Formats: sequence, structure tokens, C-alpha cells
Amino acid sequence: MTTKPPKHFTSDEFREMGHSTIDWIADYLEHLEERPVTPDVKPGDVRASLPERAPEAPEPFTDLLDDVNSLIAPAITHWQHPGFFGYFSCNSSAPAILGELLSAGFGINGMLWSTSPAATELETHMLDWLLDLCGLPDCFRSDGKGGGVIQDSASSASLCAILAARDRSGGASELPKLVAYTSTQAHSSIEKDVKIAGFSPDQLRKVEVDENFAMDPEELQRLINEDKENGLIPCFITATIGTTSSGAVDPITSIAEIANKEGAWLHVDAAWAGSAAVCPEHRSLLEGIEKADSYAFNPHKWLLTNFDCTAFYVADSKPLVDSLSIVPEYLRNPASEAGEVIDYRDWQVPLGRRFRSLKLWFVLRSYGAEGLRSHIRHHVEAAESFAERVEGHPKLALAAPVSLSLVCFSHVDGDDATKALQEALNSTGEVLLTHTVLDDKHVLRLSVGGTWTTSTHVERVSELIDEILG
Ligand SMILES: *Cc1c(COP(=O)(O)O)cnc(C)c1O
Repeated sequence: MTTKPPKHFTSDEFREMGHSTIDWIADYLEHLEERPVTPDVKPGDVRASLPERAPEAPEPFTDLLDDVNSLIAPAITHWQHPGFFGYFSCNSSAPAILGELLSAGFGINGMLWSTSPAATELETHMLDWLLDLCGLPDCFRSDGKGGGVIQDSASSASLCAILAARDRSGGASELPKLVAYTSTQAHSSIEKDVKIAGFSPDQLRKVEVDENFAMDPEELQRLINEDKENGLIPCFITATIGTTSSGAVDPITSIAEIANKEGAWLHVDAAWAGSAAVCPEHRSLLEGIEKADSYAFNPHKWLLTNFDCTAFYVADSKPLVDSLSIVPEYLRNPASEAGEVIDYRDWQVPLGRRFRSLKLWFVLRSYGAEGLRSHIRHHVEAAESFAERVEGHPKLALAAPVSLSLVCFSHVDGDDATKALQEALNSTGEVLLTHTVLDDKHVLRLSVGGTWTTSTHVERVSELIDEILG
């Protein structure tokens, strides 16, 4: 050997760096309200502030945190700011952050059961826990034909569902005849997933919705009949519980009946709203879910668990595994060969996978079911009070029925007035509201769901609106 081993960090150095980083995060979260929710940066500003090349010599860790302070933090959108009401929230919490840290500390790749048994089994177990916590049906439980897996995102979950559906319907040879259905209000990821799965754009039908923006099952049936008359095969239906635009809930029971009768795979996307099922009073949202082939929701949106954490369930794992399993010689091992274990690489697109269940385990244990329920309830109540103020306001109107903690509203004077209100609200720096279009109208969305967002922050939005509209 002519080279010396590289210099790594000692445990003491790591400890010191780690403590200062945790301190940094704690201070950041504690003082978030003093920052504007969105940064004032132009494209290219951040890169212009960085050195052109990576350093040749090591730099001290304190310099790194200094730069996080001066270059990075001022140039991010503060999703954890309590005044963040845009999109859907992206929850974080102390136990979830520490669970992430431990996952990095282990530094494992849990692609197979045998590459880290605890990573697979804790994940299976947490997904079963979530079934109980959310009142989800036993068909998704791991001790039967089905089971759950953590995906990085709802988009990946629906991609896996459509791949399984495609291959169950005959795969590549039948592909030109297969048709997928969703509503005009479905998340854009469905369109993207269908495309990735090899369908052409004219093999996706966007079913019309009713006055509440929920899929019209009669229209779904009509389109399916039309396709069958043309020799096509209904393959895949995605229904949504809590659409991204307005929080609309598709009628799962009627859609499931159609899917089951037609032999099409039903995937239910509850990315945001699914977390609300920890409260028994919101479980009616899930009606009919026991007839779905797959279901996904994102604890990373509204269940205090850092991105990325999508809970994805299948009622029968065989079509999924049949579609995604490839076994090269170098991954063969006795436990897999014996069929005694779950190998989650067969339940997702990539081979490698992070130890994501740790953060979920930490969250579920640190908050307890009661903590999770009060998180949801507080936001739903705050949104309801806000909606009442909108309804009582002479210049505002609701643009869709209030869904859980999502309130869609607009200015009665039309799009320009709504856009001006949005601009004025967001330019205060205290809040961020994003928009959508419903019935061709520009609509503001107040999405209440941030970990540190309380009713006081929601009331502040009403105050700001009163100040702006006079
Ligand atoms: C947010 C959202 C998605 C996308 O979630 P990712 O996890 O970011 O892929 C999909 N569907 C619905 C209904 C959503 O609200």
C-alpha cells in the first residue's frame, strides 16, 4: 500500500458537529415566525453566492453551518412556518427528524429482508399499526394476501398500482387495448404515471365531475361501455379521497362496484385526506375502501412525519410482485428462496430503499393516537371557523364545499380581485396561500395542516384579509 487510509471524523468530532446541528435546527424552528414564509430570491441568486468549485482542502464544520445561515436559510420557502397555508402541508416533527437521523446513522439499504431484517419487519408492522389507527380494512393487513409498504411519494404508489394493473390485464401484448380512468380533478401524477407505464395519452379517460368536483360514476360507466364496444379493455381506475384542488371525495363505493364488475384495478389516492382517518369522525371518507385493490396516503403531508413517507397498501400483493420482481443471481438468499419473508424491493420501482419506518415508529409512539387525533382536529376546527368568516364576509365566497382543513374561496368581484388579494396576503410575508382553478375561476386555497400552525395563525389570515379589503 502506498496511500494512507483517508481521514474520517472521530466520534468526538461527530458528536460536536451533531450537537451543533441539532441546536441549529431547534433555533430555526423556534424562530421561524420571524422569517418571511417565502424568500426574496431571483433565479441564479443562490448559485451566484456559491464558490465555483468544490474545495481542495477540508473546511471546518462551523463554516458550513454559517453558510447554511447566510446562504441557504434565507433562500428557502419555509414549509414549517406556521403561516404556511399553500399546497398541502409537509409535516415535520421532533421525533420524525430524529428518526430520519437514526436512519442515516444506520446507513443501511433495506432492499431485501436479509439485507436488514429489522428494516423490513418494522415497516410491515408500522403499516399494520396504521391500519388500526385509521380504521382501514383487514384486506390490507400483512398476514393475509395483501400488505403495506412505504413509498417515497403518492406518485410512486400510484405508479406501482398501475404497473401491477397493466400486467394483471395481460401486460405488454395487451397494452394497446388497455384503458385507464380517473377524474378531471385527479392529481397530475396519475397522468404522469399512466404515461410512464407506457399508455398513450388517448388511453387515459378523465371522467367528468359533479357540482362538488367528485367523479360522476355514471359517466365512468358510460365511458367504460363505450370503450368496451370499441374492443378496448378497462384496466385501471384511480379515485381520489380529497382532491388536490378542492379536497373533493369521489364516491368510492359506486366506483368500486364498477371496477369490480369490469375487472379493472381500483387504486384510491388519499394522499392528503387519508391522515384524517385517525379520527373516527372522519372515517366515513373511507367508505367502500375495502373493495379497492390498492390505497395510498401520505403521513408526510398531515401526520407529523417528515417527507418522504407514503403508506401504500395492496389487497393482494401477488400482481404487484409479479410485475416488479426480477431476481439476479447476486441477490439470491435462503430466506427469500424459502418464501418466508417480504422483500420490499419487489414492491417498488427502485431496488434500494431507505429505513423510513423508523421515523414513523418514532412519531406514532411519541404522539400516541391521541396526539395524532388532536393534531388533525385542531386544524379541521380552525379551517371551519375560517370558512364561517368567509361565508359572513360581504366580499368573499366559498368556491367549493369545505373539505376537512381545506378552504377554497374567492373574491366576489372576480379573478382580478382574487389575484390581488392573494398577492397582498402573500406579500405580507406572514402567510402563504396558493391557488387553483375551479369552474374556470381563480380560487385561493387555505390549506391548514402545518405542524406548528394553530387556530391563532388561521385567525391572523382573517385579520389580514380584513386589513386588505378594508
Ligand atoms: C399531494 C398529492 C399527490 C402527490 O403526492 P406526492 O407524495 O408528492 O407524490 C397525489 N395525489 C393527491 C390527491 C395529492 O394531494
